[in-house]
This record gives sequence, structure tokens and C-alpha cells, in this order.
Amino acid sequence: MKALVKYAPGDGNVGIRDVEEPRCNEHQVKVAVAFCGICGTDLHVLHDTFRNYPPVILGHELSGTIAEVGRGVTGLSVGEAVTVLGATCVTCGKCTYCRSGNFMFCPIRRGMGHGVNGAFARYVVVRPDQIYRIPAGLPLEEAALTEPLAAAVHGVIELTQVRLGDTALVSGPGPIGLLCLKLLVAEGVKTIVAGAPGDTMRLDAAKRMGAASVVDTGAQSLAEVVRAETGAMGVDAAFECAGHPASVRGCIDAVRPMGRYTQVAFCAGDIQFPINSIVSKQLSVAGSLCYTEQTWERTMRIYAEGKLRLGDMISAKLPLEEWRAGFDLCVEKKGLKVLLYPEE
Ligand SMILES: [Zn+2]
Ligand SMILES: [Zn+2]
Repeated sequence: MKALVKYAPGDGNVGIRDVEEPRCNEHQVKVAVAFCGICGTDLHVLHDTFRNYPPVILGHELSGTIAEVGRGVTGLSVGEAVTVLGATCVTCGKCTYCRSGNFMFCPIRRGMGHGVNGAFARYVVVRPDQIYRIPAGLPLEEAALTEPLAAAVHGVIELTQVRLGDTALVSGPGPIGLLCLKLLVAEGVKTIVAGAPGDTMRLDAAKRMGAASVVDTGAQSLAEVVRAETGAMGVDAAFECAGHPASVRGCIDAVRPMGRYTQVAFCAGDIQFPINSIVSKQLSVAGSLCYTEQTWERTMRIYAEGKLRLGDMISAKLPLEEWRAGFDLCVEKKGLKVLLYPEE
């Protein structure tokens, strides 16, 4: 089968290769990939700025249908529409973190698309516990957004615990920021979305998705908009989804005393951080890394409720062979979420 492979260490060294189709043993499930989203992690693997183990097939944000079920697997059938939790491909199952569901911190963890073969291919083979059946009627395109949506659910709902009547700031209107916005809007939280020059298209999308205000920080003062939208109070919660020093500062300044600041994005390196504001405003500061298995179960229930629609998050669907064009759309911020699909 054709697959998008990181075939050697270093910057670049990614391309379409003919690889052997993975075989499904008696304890595994084979999934025919329908769609797989391009994630920042894939770009980092391309440029070797994220740990990776070549040769390895990229991609971890997939949806698909079950193509084969191992003899020893019960409860799953061929043809079912599913998504896959790729982050748990390799974990020890025994450490404190594995045992408490927080597998992200398992010392031997390896995820799909960088540590083990991923889903920019026709098929993936996984364990049955990695499979999540998607609710009837949910398009496979939307189901391919489960992984980033779960990351947003973890940050917004599980860690920051926003409530009806709160106000929030989302800084950084990339896919994760916009998914945070969608959850906040669904929770009844008045939300401001801030972006940098170059984010125009994404800020327009934020407006359509229910943001109370959008701010291009190159042209407008975020502080003024926050003042206007919150009656000079400041927001109850800020979500830093850009990973940029100016955005970090904007978020810290926008939060009211005793408010909550959640760092969702990674910054490119160490930055200057206004640490005294944490004390002077007595802020609660949290980092949000990925999700747990419980988060994925919650995400499936969110899908099942049917209130959150993700179709407007998908800006392009390209055949796998056009991966380079898809990656470029993400780099140039011309897309929201870009999906690749394997050809028959
Ligand atoms: Zn991802
Ligand atoms: Zn472990």
C-alpha cells in the first residue's frame, strides 16, 4: 500500500513509499482509513522537531471502518465506523500514570504517527481498546477530528471547568483554538478570540462559529476589547493556543484576578513569562497536555448529543499523494483542518 513515510532521521526525509500492508493478528483490529487530519505534530516530524523513530508512517487523526477483526477479539465487527486513539500504541500499563488513565506520562509511551506506524495510509492495525465506535450519522470527515477535539475537551471542560455565564479568551485561532471556542460556545460561555496578522481567515471562521468578538492583535488592542466585553472585569478563563510570547502576555493580562489561565499550546522555546501576575492576581495556572481515555469517552458522548458540529472546521480534503500541498496549507495558515484520504 502507499503510505506517507518518514524514512530517515533529520529535517525532511518524508515521502510517499510503497510499504507492506499491515497484517492483523488474533488480538488486533485492522482499520481501513477513511480520513486522516494533518496535525502540527506531523509538521514537527517532517522537520524533525518532534521525537520520531523512522522508518515510520505519519498521521494519527483518523477515522475509518473496521476491515478485519482478529479471532480473539469480541464486540467489534467488520464495517463499523470508528476512530482510533493512536496515542496509546505503546505504553507499559503498569506505571502510576498508566494505572490512573494518564497514559501521556508513561515513560515508555510511543504514539501513532511518530513512534509507531500511523494513518497516512490505506490501513492501520491497532488493539481493540484503541477503537472508539462513532455514533450513527456522524460523518467520517468529522470523526477524523476526534483527536484534536479531545485535546480541547481536556483543556476546556476537564481542566479549566468553565461554566455557563463565564467569559473566556481563546488566543490563537488554529484548529485547537477553534475547537476550544466551539466547546465554550456550546457551554454558553461568552468568548473572545484573538489572533495575529495573517490569521484573518481563521478569525472570520471564529466569528461564524460564535465568538462574541474577534481581535486581530496587529490592528486592535486586545486589552480594550477585553475591557469592552467584560465590563472592565477581565475574562474568567484564558486559553493560550498560539504558543507565542505576545499571546501568553495577552492572556495573562486579560484574565481577571482569581481567574484561570490554561496553557494549551507549546511555545517554540523558553519565553519571558509575566510570573508576578500569577501572584498579584492570584491566578490558577494549568497546562493541558492531550487527553485521557476518559476524555475520549466524553468526546464520544458529545458527538452522540449532536449539538457540536465540526463540518465547518474542515477546509480541504486532499488525496494522500497531495500531502505536500496539504502541509503547505497548514504552514501558511490558509486552512482550518486539512484532511488527507488514501486512494483506492
Ligand atoms: Zn494531533
Ligand atoms: Zn506506563
